Amino acid sequence: MLMTPGPTAVPEPVREAMSRELINPDVDPAFREIYDRVTERLATAYGIDPDASGSDARDVVVLGGEGILGLEAAVASLVEPGTEVLCLANGLYGEGFADFVASYGGDPTVVAAEHDEPLPLDALDEALAADDADFDVATMVHCETPTGALNDVDAALDRIEAADAEILTVVDAVSSLGGVSVPTERIDVCLGASQKCFSAPPGLATAAVSDRAWAAMEAREPHSLYANFLPFRDVSDGFPYTHLTTEVVALDEALGLLLDEGLDAVRERHAAAAARCRERGAELGLETVPGPERSSPTVTAFAVPGRAESLQERLREEHDVLLATGLGDGASDVLRVGHMGHSARVDRVEETMDALAAVL
Ligand SMILES: *Cc1c(COP(=O)(O)O)cnc(C)c1O
Repeated sequence: MLMTPGPTAVPEPVREAMSRELINPDVDPAFREIYDRVTERLATAYGIDPDASGSDARDVVVLGGEGILGLEAAVASLVEPGTEVLCLANGLYGEGFADFVASYGGDPTVVAAEHDEPLPLDALDEALAADDADFDVATMVHCETPTGALNDVDAALDRIEAADAEILTVVDAVSSLGGVSVPTERIDVCLGASQKCFSAPPGLATAAVSDRAWAAMEAREPHSLYANFLPFRDVSDGFPYTHLTTEVVALDEALGLLLDEGLDAVRERHAAAAARCRERGAELGLETVPGPERSSPTVTAFAVPGRAESLQERLREEHDVLLATGLGDGASDVLRVGHMGHSARVDRVEETMDALAAVL
């Protein structure tokens, strides 16, 4: 039983959709219909108002490639040598944006907190108010999956908007989108991926892009042909390269399931699964990091100092339940349960926590 915080368990109707006859995405008009439906369904999942216009308008694009491609494409599409980027971070993904920025010749300023701390909002204010502050882009992460923290991106966006409304904002919502409400309408490039709360297989990166972000992308020379959103802005004359047909068909089916259930019901299901997971953890004496108020409804990280790998192995060997350890320096210190997408079900959480109880 797959209970990792991505890739998540893929439900049977999605796996069946993937076994259908292949479509040629470049030649068969049927693929365009599927792609159009996927972007329409995604727009709903992103919470985009279809009638929005002007600065509120957003286009959704789906690129063939793992979620990381979206992160890189956001940077490659907006950053050129000399672009000043504020990277707000309290975890590995937040810090990782600075590496992309540097690799595309931009100038990153990392405003970071420790991994168990909230986003550093006071330091953000200071960075924005500095005499030489002239940021073009700001990046941040909604759910820092490695620590299980759901960051208060609204508070950060308030401060950025108040300091300099011209700053383009990029938010990695890969592990929250589809399980938690995301403030897409305030974000210039909002990133998602197929393999987290949508419960489709890994292979697609999604983005909701604002009109002014498109304008910024159009005003510059692309630095990457593949990690580039622009060719997807208007695909009426075709795709820039052969799309990942099977992955798109799978995402279409997965989004259909999600929207049939309804966004509110899906979010409630995530909240219920998370609450039950933490309650069962507390009964076992396990502390949830980073704490009840800041933990994401999509993933629970339990503190198990030094024991994560051995617990993970025994759960897999003895109970056929797959969980994740931490990432990076403290990898052995946290055991992570992904109640994300199809796995965000109380019955699956109960089975997982029964197994964890037995192993402990
Ligand atoms: C999963 C995830 C991604 C996508 O990258 P992976 O290669 O699957 O790690 C990006 N950002 C966040 C926050 C994620 O959880």
